[in-house]
Amino acid sequence: MSLSVRFWGTRGSIPSPGPTTVRYGGNTPCVELRTEDGWLVILDAGTGIRDLGRSLLERADGASIAGDIFLTHAHWDHIQGIPFFAPVFRKGNHFTIWGSNSLQTSIDRVVRDQMSPVVFPVTFEELQARIDFQDLVEERRAGRGYEVAAMAVRHPGGALGYRFTDGNADQGGLVYVSDNELNPRARYDELPGWRNRFVEFARGASVLVHDTMYTAQEYDAYVGWGHSTYEDAVDLALEAEVAKLVLFHHRPERTDDEVDRCLLECRATVARRGSRMEVAAAAEGMSLVV
Ligand SMILES: [Zn+2]
Ligand SMILES: [Zn+2]
Repeated sequence: MSLSVRFWGTRGSIPSPGPTTVRYGGNTPCVELRTEDGWLVILDAGTGIRDLGRSLLERADGASIAGDIFLTHAHWDHIQGIPFFAPVFRKGNHFTIWGSNSLQTSIDRVVRDQMSPVVFPVTFEELQARIDFQDLVEERRAGRGYEVAAMAVRHPGGALGYRFTDGNADQGGLVYVSDNELNPRARYDELPGWRNRFVEFARGASVLVHDTMYTAQEYDAYVGWGHSTYEDAVDLALEAEVAKLVLFHHRPERTDDEVDRCLLECRATVARRGSRMEVAAAAEGMSLVV
């Protein structure tokens, strides 16, 4: 049993198209997950979801489309693609949007408000697909051909990290943590023991997709902004003994060549520490099986 993963948006904070981001991509976070029997799960709805939507319509060839959309949180870069996700304009399609119930405003409200007439020409009520909203807390639940566990992570306003497995084993699977500040210099109001719980949450994953927004040098200016450094993500991945770390939520300014260099540095650190863990940098179009 396996899950397949495809990246449609890998960039943090704001879409960053241009000649220096062609290879890793300029779209904000969106990842497609497929269970073995083909059920669709979408992680985050950044601008990458626009192209995913076009691909889904093509692949469906007129048949209806259904799936679960898990949002890590409601910051713009994780929801801004929804009004441009073409399948929501088609009758007969059905999506369930899952999000944390601990955000300041419900996910339902935030998604509707980003389509209010002041800022968008089409209202949420005009969408033809059926869209349900479901709250999540820190929990584990069974989906269609998968199991998902959610854990609160360190990010301003709150965010969830997710772990998806095929439901048959506790080990392996995909851990997806798009926005998370690992460094203890930043203060959040998580419960004591969070770090240990988070390491256990990620332990033994086949793939850990984690926020690597900053270099160590850059981080000093952004303590408390909710993101991690390459070094902190590598430390976590090694501690949790994951098979593969995928660098994600690239800084908007980060050029392709810089991502290449950061990736090589991460691999060098892993080798120095005597580990065989793989490291990759998320790129639009990249596929994995977990
Ligand atoms: Zn983000
Ligand atoms: Zn965020």
